[in-house]
Amino acid sequence: MRRVLIAGNWKMNMLSADGTALAAAVAAGSGPQPSCDLLICPPATLLHAVLDTVGKTALPDRPVSVGGQDCHADASGAHTGDIAAEMLADLGCSHVIVGHSERRAGHGERDAEVRAKAEAAHRAGLVAIVCVGETEAERDAGQAHTVAAGQIEGSLPEGATATNTVVAYEPVWAIGTGKSATPDDVAGMHRHIRGLLPEADAMRILYGGSVKPGNAAELLALEDVDGALIGGASLKAEDFLAIAATAA
Ligand code: PEP
Repeated sequence: MRRVLIAGNWKMNMLSADGTALAAAVAAGSGPQPSCDLLICPPATLLHAVLDTVGKTALPDRPVSVGGQDCHADASGAHTGDIAAEMLADLGCSHVIVGHSERRAGHGERDAEVRAKAEAAHRAGLVAIVCVGETEAERDAGQAHTVAAGQIEGSLPEGATATNTVVAYEPVWAIGTGKSATPDDVAGMHRHIRGLLPEADAMRILYGGSVKPGNAAELLALEDVDGALIGGASLKAEDFLAIAATAA
């Protein structure tokens, strides 16, 4: 019932030549996999070129969606350097990541701001990918489930539905470290999160944190794991597509 979503977060990587080549390789290599959606989220500077490349390369029955990595809560105004959700939608983006732990930690974003950004995404007609996840210290203190519950409660807007929102559980200690959470931990956390969601049976919950071709199959096979948010491994088309293939 819930289609698997394999999403790549390129973070602050790639200049135009490498980025368009990567987008073309993902779009050309994606093959027919009707049970799995593909999304790539390049840096803002590459959105236009990547949308253009994907539009020209992807098969009509195998589209690759393109999303932003962040947006501002306002639709326009005096916010130097920021990007409105409406601007992403105007370019042709369909999704935007909000509340990634690197923004929560590096830019001091708190739940209320993440929630406002998710609301902005909905206002602009984008799907908000709302990230939650505990730090290593919180996990060691046995607070992982409480922290995730607090972030879900604080970051998901009133109007969140299974159509306009995807949740990504990304334990901070597993992001970019090569240390993935165990399937048992992921299964327990995703079950816990599902119990807190509106339209719980239909809303997709992605796992993120050092997902690679070698560990993707067992994570994606878990009942409440509806896809993956992938950082490092999304920078190589063959790895990204190999992960997607395990979900097909
Ligand atoms: C991420 O940045 O969302 C992420 C999961 O990164 P990585 O796959 O590199 O751990």
